[in-house]
Amino acid sequence: PRVAELVASRVLDVPDFPKPGVMFKDLMPLFADGEVFRQVVDGIVAYHGRDAFDAVVGIEARGFVVAAAIAYAAGVGVVPVRKAGKLPRPAYSASYALEYGEATLEVHEDAFTAGHRVLVVDDVLATGGTAEATLDLVERAGGTVAGFTVLLELGFLGGRERLAPRPVHALLSV
Ligand code: IMP
Repeated sequence: PRVAELVASRVLDVPDFPKPGVMFKDLMPLFADGEVFRQVVDGIVAYHGRDAFDAVVGIEARGFVVAAAIAYAAGVGVVPVRKAGKLPRPAYSASYALEYGEATLEVHEDAFTAGHRVLVVDDVLATGGTAEATLDLVERAGGTVAGFTVLLELGFLGGRERLAPRPVHALLSV
């Protein structure tokens, strides 16, 4: 509960971003607060156990911020899952539907050692499309998903149900 309160205290609601009718949850104040950021990162590492994963995947772009800190704290490496066309070497792609159109995410084919236990992190879980594509990419690249954690879950958008039975860990659910 304490870490949930910390997250709640550092989220800003931004109306009509990126388009009218959407209430965007801005976590930049959390990233900018050194003490809160440290407690959030340490809380995630403690929840999963620092020996429970061999690599951390961050989802572009805000997921990179959290993933790098968790990886450093646990003494493991960080692997980026990127938007289409950004990775320099052969990569697996996964596409998913957006409200209008589709999005594609990619990971390098050689990103993981076979059987590596991978902790996947992002800032916000909304509909779950981003996470579903990312978990699929991790498995296609030979990783084993050890967990999926977000700082903030927008429960009314159904991401957790979409990802079931894979467990979702959220520091704060609204
Ligand atoms: P989903 O695919 O609908 O679950 O959307 C999750 C992705 O979109 C994550 O990578 C988030 O960074 C981003 N996202 C969606 N809604 C928000 C929000 O309100 N605040 C910050 N990021 C968001």
